[in-house]
Amino acid sequence: MRIWDVHTHLAGAPGSPRQRAEKMLRSADRLGVERFFLHMGTIFIADPTPDALRLANDEVLEAVKADPERIRGLVYVNPKYPEASLAEFERCVVNGPMVGVKIWVAVRCSDPRLDPIVKRAAEQKATLIIQHTWLKIGGNPRIVGDGNSTGESTPTDVAILARRHPDVPIVCVHVGGDWELGIRSVSSIPNVMIEVSGSYPTEGFVEMAVREVGADRVMFGSDMPGRSLASQLAKVQGAQISESEKELILGGNLRRLLAPIYQKKGLKL
Ligand SMILES: [Zn+2]
Repeated sequence: MRIWDVHTHLAGAPGSPRQRAEKMLRSADRLGVERFFLHMGTIFIADPTPDALRLANDEVLEAVKADPERIRGLVYVNPKYPEASLAEFERCVVNGPMVGVKIWVAVRCSDPRLDPIVKRAAEQKATLIIQHTWLKIGGNPRIVGDGNSTGESTPTDVAILARRHPDVPIVCVHVGGDWELGIRSVSSIPNVMIEVSGSYPTEGFVEMAVREVGADRVMFGSDMPGRSLASQLAKVQGAQISESEKELILGGNLRRLLAPIYQKKGLKL
């Protein structure tokens, strides 16, 4: 089975960007992961300035040199700075080796400031756009962890964004963490993909996602090194679903989303 991991980071590991990527390659080798996709720099910055964006993307560009065949980058953008974000997209994806877009927690993704980024990415065939989501309870956004921060999206925000761009796939990262609610929030929007990284490897998560939206809308990501690759893989490998469904989730769907940009760049899937 060709396992591709859409969601990995440099933060949370020691060493230079390249040393971090080399360590992750060893983890990938141990667990049979063929390729993985890196986004964001060696430090997580929730609301990066244009300078911080460039630095984070430079670190990823440096890290992928550890094995450009197996590791690819997704450009980190902040919709609060549309011009700088589009410039980073041009630099890293259109004129560089990156193959998709990562958006984190600076702006809720239902915000219209995402539209120019999604449109430009789609125009350039970069149809792997991955958006973080989480569902926090507690309700006080001023207390860290007590509720979603002002810019942190929920799966409902992804549903709103995806409705505005019905021809562009949007990957709902973590599907909110609270997956029973998250899956229901996006199930009726056909262009939303459910990504399963980041929460505990709970039995029933992947099974429910497949039941509600079909295996062709479910995607594996690990979020390593913040999460262990083994436990995240176990979510899919141990799920009570068919082998062909596992193949789609562990790599087939990601390759389908990457096909337009890989073709444009002359890369091998
Ligand atoms: Zn992550």
